[in-house]
Amino acid sequence: MPSEFDLIRRHFQRPAPDGRVVLGVGDDAALLAERGDRCLAVSSDTLLAGVHFLPEADPERLGRKALAVNLSDLAAMGARPLAFSLALSLPAPDEDWLTRFAAGLHAMAAEYDVPLIGGDTVRGPLALSLHILGERPCGGAGRRGDAQPGDDLYLSGTVGDAALGLELLRGRWQAPAPLRRHCLDRLETPTPRVALGQAVLPWVHALIDCSDGLAQDLGHVLAASGTGATVDLTALPLSTAGRRWRVEGGDWETLLAGGDDYELLLTAPPGRRAVLAELADACGVPLTRIGRLRAEPGLDWLDADGRPLALAAAGFDHFRGAA
Ligand code: ADP
Ligand code: MG
Repeated sequence: MPSEFDLIRRHFQRPAPDGRVVLGVGDDAALLAERGDRCLAVSSDTLLAGVHFLPEADPERLGRKALAVNLSDLAAMGARPLAFSLALSLPAPDEDWLTRFAAGLHAMAAEYDVPLIGGDTVRGPLALSLHILGERPCGGAGRRGDAQPGDDLYLSGTVGDAALGLELLRGRWQAPAPLRRHCLDRLETPTPRVALGQAVLPWVHALIDCSDGLAQDLGHVLAASGTGATVDLTALPLSTAGRRWRVEGGDWETLLAGGDDYELLLTAPPGRRAVLAELADACGVPLTRIGRLRAEPGLDWLDADGRPLALAAAGFDHFRGAA
């Protein structure tokens, strides 16, 4: 079975026709040359009932999440959000649902100062497709392929909380109420790291957001940049919930292959440690050094004894499932 990435490469990735497309298919957002060194950053993301959310999901939280996941792709390009549009497929004209969905969407739009400027509304299975525009310099790094051997590898926030939220919803894990709340909030209302992405852009090599699981998204960086990496499992930033999961014998796979974290994963030369720590501090977002890039291909997750852990699952793929 081809992965969604195989299909995109085969059918949609083509050489750009002229100099206007600075960055096309294959990264978190495309970059289009505007004026001087300014580029428009363009990205789309769809949330589908039954795939990305349960049909009975709280519409207000869904409105927030739909915009959050799109903002996260701009954050992953270090772009400043400008505006977005919304293509909506609805099974029925449910005004109560729409009122609550729009309240969440507009609240998020106001928080990030990004107006809704258009869209489309059709009757069909419940699906939300957003298209977002941002801006950033055309030059500089921040692409998946910009990682270099010797770079430090960093992750913002904590890893795996959204995946634990899903475990809780599916009844496969129990946790005390505050931890349950935390994991469900991380799953249903992720925080896009928009300010951090812009702040670190001048200092990073590669930059990506973790939407499909740390293992898979790091895999994209390694494949695009032709590098390998070693990740220190003991350095991974875990929340109280994540630590409890581990203490109770929960596996690493759930935390590393689970999607929906929307944290930033970045690489930078070791000389940038101090400035990155300062910027993360100023943005109020933890940024943890979790490993190192190398020239030799491959990805090793080292446990407390320095032994590599064999990961059974790589992350979510729309055609292969949780591979
Ligand atoms: P992300 O998880 O960062 O949103 P995706 O994994 O969804 O990125 O997509 C990977 C790349 O493929 C992106 O550059 C995206 O724009 C591009 N892409 C996905 N689907 C299509 C498509 N149908 N046509 C053209 N490009 C696509
Ligand atoms: Mg992305």
